[in-house]
Amino acid sequence: MTEKWVQVALDVPLSRSFAYGSGGLPVQPGERVLVPFGARRLSGIVLSVDADAGDYAGKTRAILAAPGDMPALPEDVLRLCRFVADYYHHPLGAVLAAAIPVVFRGTGIFVPPQPEARFQAADPVALLAGIGPRAHAQQKVAQLLAAPVSESALRAAHASALRWVRDWQAAGLVQQLAGIEAPAPALQLGTQPELNAEQGRAVAAIAAAEGFEPFLLYGITGSGKTEVYLQAIARQLEAGRQVLVLVPEINLTPQLEGRFRARFPASDIVSLHSGMTDRQRAINWLAAASGRAAIVLGTRLAVFTPMPCLGLLVIDEEHDPSYKQQEGVRYSARDVAVYRARQRGIPVVLGSATPSIESWQNAMARRYTLLPLHQRAVKGAGLPSIRLLPVKKIRASEGLHPLAQEAIERALAAGQQALVFINRRGYAPVLACTECGWMASCKHCAARLVLHLNERRLRCHHCGFEEAITPSCPDCGNHDLQPIGHGTQRLEDIVARQFAGARVLRIDRDSTRRKGELDAALKQVHDGDADILIGTQMLAKGHDFPRLSCVVVLNADTGLYSMDFRAEERLFALLTQVAGRAGRHGQGGEVLIQTMFEDHPFYTQLLDGDYARLANRLLAERQQLRLPPVSQWAMLRAEAPQLERVQAFLSAARACFPVLRGLTVHEPVAASMTRRAGHERMQLLIASDSRTVLHQALDTAVPLIDALPVSQIRWSLDVDPLEV
Ligand code: ADP
Ligand code: ZN
Ligand code: ZN
Repeated sequence: MTEKWVQVALDVPLSRSFAYGSGGLPVQPGERVLVPFGARRLSGIVLSVDADAGDYAGKTRAILAAPGDMPALPEDVLRLCRFVADYYHHPLGAVLAAAIPVVFRGTGIFVPPQPEARFQAADPVALLAGIGPRAHAQQKVAQLLAAPVSESALRAAHASALRWVRDWQAAGLVQQLAGIEAPAPALQLGTQPELNAEQGRAVAAIAAAEGFEPFLLYGITGSGKTEVYLQAIARQLEAGRQVLVLVPEINLTPQLEGRFRARFPASDIVSLHSGMTDRQRAINWLAAASGRAAIVLGTRLAVFTPMPCLGLLVIDEEHDPSYKQQEGVRYSARDVAVYRARQRGIPVVLGSATPSIESWQNAMARRYTLLPLHQRAVKGAGLPSIRLLPVKKIRASEGLHPLAQEAIERALAAGQQALVFINRRGYAPVLACTECGWMASCKHCAARLVLHLNERRLRCHHCGFEEAITPSCPDCGNHDLQPIGHGTQRLEDIVARQFAGARVLRIDRDSTRRKGELDAALKQVHDGDADILIGTQMLAKGHDFPRLSCVVVLNADTGLYSMDFRAEERLFALLTQVAGRAGRHGQGGEVLIQTMFEDHPFYTQLLDGDYARLANRLLAERQQLRLPPVSQWAMLRAEAPQLERVQAFLSAARACFPVLRGLTVHEPVAASMTRRAGHERMQLLIASDSRTVLHQALDTAVPLIDALPVSQIRWSLDVDPLEV
């Protein structure tokens, strides 16, 4: 028996692979194996197998088992994971562990379920004829049965579908087919609307792509982006290929899944997201990896799914920050997806009403093909009207403007609902003058200073500059300086008092902490058991509230003068989404934004619905200030119980970077949340206009930083950070 030499990647905090003897097992790259590691057993992924162990035989331990419960990761997924490990400077073993379903990360062996039963009508016409005209749900299920349908597809179509099918089977109307090995059913298409000219051009361009081509599908809410995806996907399915569709976590709603299933009733559609059980996720992943699933609808973790016949990648709401993993391997699923498309030589569609400035820059530089959709797809569907309500003083912005009050009263009188939306994104307290609107800003940066009330200091989280709180406004002399955006907690009381008799419902992270609370609250809204909703960004996306006709936005301004340079693009995306909640059914709704800065170009562009102009202005600013995506960033973050340790560690880490032309390694500064869970937090920004230079520096520095003494220090590297 020839003993082979096997390199295995393990999920341990070491950036190297481990060598084992093959133990006579015929293993191959990508396969999952169980190995001894110290006194433990671990699960790992085979990276390579050498023909002959030669001298090594007997000098190392052998792998214990090759369970074979997970198909070997194909070469392209292994390469993708290698790229992610290199680019994000993270151990390959950890990347591979993150890329596979949880059930394959441990030493347990996954036993897949029996092949699913499939059903088909013996005679579709007879089956339909026997169902009452009002039994719509049963009719829908019966229609599906014209072609073979799996148990899970039936269950997804209706909660009682399986029971009906069993009844029909007993009556001889439906027959059970062989298991999953049955040949893939022919493609069926649900009714699809006639595309408008711009949509038609978009679908044609995507279909005509030869090899790798990234598209930026830029269209306002309701302009028919999803319809473009569906028709582009149909072309792929016709050609027998698979499609991967990524969506932000909160957007993966049953409605969206339903829309896909209705369009492709006979196709195997699986979803992959963190809300499902580990077991279900493994089953769906296996369906994708076997090539059986035609469409994978998933959140960021789905980007690594093996798909042998992958023909197209779609990234919906590509600007959404939830595509960025914020712990462990800090990858951007959007960027990884684009890389994967390049590697596979296939088209990728990035869709958004408010594209990220990164993607916008790529479109402007013609690296991405811009596909614009300018109109609402449904004729006559109005956009909500947006109005600004100028409030002169900061204090006033914490309550409701009289016109906002009137608008809410009007909505309630008409039996509709109103939403008071409080922007909390990117919130960091900024000191402002209640008279003239002056705000404390950094002498050295384009950033606002952040108020640290406990120490009574103002700090720049960008360059580290700090000063004591000024006693009066340097512009007008007013002594009443206030943290802007404070006191939102009081709003619920204020509103409840102003609208006595109205049912006020607050929906935010605090009110929905426990499982089921959010669903219960949303149901209350749907059932019309609430009149005024008070909510944060949790309510902005995905949800469809038929009775909501009026939205009042408070605290929008905090997004304009945030120390986060991405705050403006995010605010635009957020307000676009919030505005999209109002008046989705029937007449366009009313959106009122209370602001102290009604002349700010941001609001002009928002009222005009002109994201392109905003994006171009932001891009020019980034150019001028050398901010991403013009400059390439990496952030080294560290935390420890004592500040001195963090400082010492980051100073030592800073010294690990080589001196390179075009590379800037900044001084350590306080993180925007300076203390969390008893840990002092600081960060170090590494920047270069050249991605090559940045990565060259990281290649040198990261192994040295890895070797630094780190008692009580927790640190992480974030390449292309989204939070600064
Ligand atoms: P988006 O994804 O850009 O928000 P959707 O694709 O969801 O837009 O389309 C919005 C609405 O318009 C949906 O109800 C959709 O069915 C409808 N729609 C899309 N394209 C067309 C079209 N070409 N003709 C008629 N209705 C359309
Ligand atoms: Zn002032
Ligand atoms: Zn500064």
